[in-house]
Parts: sequence; structure tokens; C-alpha cells
Amino acid sequence: MKVAALAGGVGGAKLVDGLARLLAPDDLTVIVNTGDDFRYCGLSISPDLDTVCYTLAGIANQETGWGLQNETWITLSQLKTMGAPAWFNLGDKDLATHLERTRLLDDGVPLSSITRGFCEAWGVKPTILPMTDDPVATVVIDTAGNRLDFQEYFVKYHWEPAVKAIEFSGIDKANPAPGVLDALKDCDLVVICPSNPYVSVAPILALPGVLHIVQQKPVVAVSPIIGGAAVKGPLAKMIGELAGQPATAGFAANYYKKLSILTGYVLDTRDELEGTLLEGWGIIYETVDTLMISTDDRMRVANTVLELASEIYGDK
Ligand code: GDP
Ligand code: CA
Repeated sequence: MKVAALAGGVGGAKLVDGLARLLAPDDLTVIVNTGDDFRYCGLSISPDLDTVCYTLAGIANQETGWGLQNETWITLSQLKTMGAPAWFNLGDKDLATHLERTRLLDDGVPLSSITRGFCEAWGVKPTILPMTDDPVATVVIDTAGNRLDFQEYFVKYHWEPAVKAIEFSGIDKANPAPGVLDALKDCDLVVICPSNPYVSVAPILALPGVLHIVQQKPVVAVSPIIGGAAVKGPLAKMIGELAGQPATAGFAANYYKKLSILTGYVLDTRDELEGTLLEGWGIIYETVDTLMISTDDRMRVANTVLELASEIYGDK
């Protein structure tokens, strides 16, 4: 089964890791959000791409989910001593990734080619594609009217400002990166990872041409909400602020259903009661413990996604 997975950072990377252990490398393409990409201390940083690649390479920090394992922070502490803006966690080894990416971008090499080179160097076998080679910036507009770059909102302000709206600046003029539309057209299944629908998945779906293709495909999504809470990050708070409702496992299902792209949904065993709601919408579902910490956890959730896909094909 050929799979195209849409992913943000930490939540996306964990499911993709499980899928990569169950599928042949040629059968998995991961399309990664780049709306969070930003410049920091003169460097081009692609947080979600790095998280997915480091995870698949087996070199990610297992505790945080982002950054590299066995990292040191000498450069960051020196920057702080000098009064530099040091709100972004820049590890010494991680710095090499940003230096090399910035050098290549400055030489005119597209982000998708750079990512392919990095994956070769790190031994990542599935195809990892940035959603676009063009600049797209996720902007959070808070209730006070401030426009914040996503990483400022997320890391600098610890997602404290109340969100009024989200914009993807540059999206209309951005082209999907080479390979993105073909991977979607050629796949048997689109998987939407348990990433933040508003800021990790929405930018990918908003790229010209993407939604239309995804609408023609079987799509299985995994709930990013477990027992009414986000495992990590601002999603539950954002649902309250943007949709005016408490976070539920069914929220993401409804979000994708409204875009006419949901066939099947994997929800956590703790949210089993919401299954009847999904049935009412004509969406098939499976329940499983979706909390992914160990490798076994990741494979269990990925396996449930693939089982649901077989069910979709069997039902056809
Ligand atoms: P980011 O770009 O690093 O913020 O990561 P993503 O957008 O890919 O993922 C963030 C979402 O992943 C959060 O809303 C979390 O609730 C969800 N998430 C993180 N870990 C898990 C997990 O183990 N299981 C499930 N079901 N969701 C998770
Ligand atoms: Ca992200």
C-alpha cells in the first residue's frame, strides 16, 4: 500500500516513525509543514522537517521529541551571555543542520533538494518532502491584534496569547514542492498524522492543488486529542479560542470532515464514546491507545491506521 502522510513536528514524527517500520521505504512519502520555518540569528530553521528527519534517522531526542539526542548547549549559553536573542533552543549539533541548510539556500538550492541530501546523509529511507520550496509563514493574530510569527507565539511567548485568527502568508503564490502532488496522486492512502490541524496540517492542505487531490483519496486521520486534552502544545487551548468549544477527539474528525477529506479515524480508547458520533457522520473508526512513547506504541498506532485502510479497501 502506497501511503502519503501529512505531518507537522512532534505528533507527526511519532506516527511517521511507526509507519516507516511497517512499510517499504518506497511506499512512504511524508509531506511536512514548512509554515513554521523562520530565520533566527541569520539562520534558516525548518523545525517540523528537522523533527521528522531526526526521528526517522533515530537521532532525535526521545524526551523532548524535538532536537537531537546527546545535545550540548554551549553556543546558546554563550549567545545568552552576550545578550543575543536566545529564546529559541539552538543545540550545538542542531546548529550544523541550520548552518548547512542556510548555506545551501543562499546558493539557490531548493529546500526539497537540501532535505533529500540531508536524508541521504542521515540514512532516512522514506521520501521526506517539504510541502513547498517557496516561503510560507504561519502568522498567529492574537486577540490584542498583534501579528506573531508562529515560532514567536509557540516558543518565545509559550503559546500564552489568545488566538483570534491564523494566516498562512504567501500560501497563494506558493507551489507544492516537486513530488508533492505526484505522491498524493499516486498513493492508495493519505494519512493525516496526529498533528495540530490548525497550524501543522492546514498549511499543507491550503497549498494550491493539494485539497482537490486529497478529496479523491481514502484518508485516515489519527486524533491529536486524548481524553479532552492535547498530548503536548497549544491545540486544546486553540480549539477553545478559535472554535469556542472544549477539545474533543471528534473535533479534528469534524474539522477534516468539513473539508470533505475524511474516510476513517483512529481515536484513543479513552474517547471510545465519540465513536457513535463518527458513525453518524459515515466515518469508519478504530480505537486504540494512541499515546506514542515507545517504538512499540508508534507501531501499534501505525498498524491500526493500516488496518483501517484495509477495511476501507475491503468495503469498496
Ligand atoms: P509540532 O509541530 O511539534 O507542534 O507537532 P505536531 O503539530 O505534529 O503535533 C502536535 C500535536 O500532536 C499536539 O496537538 C498533540 O496533542 C499531538 N500529539 C503529540 N504526541 C501524541 C501522541 O503520542 N498521540 C497522539 N494521539 N497525539 C499526539
Ligand atoms: Ca511545528
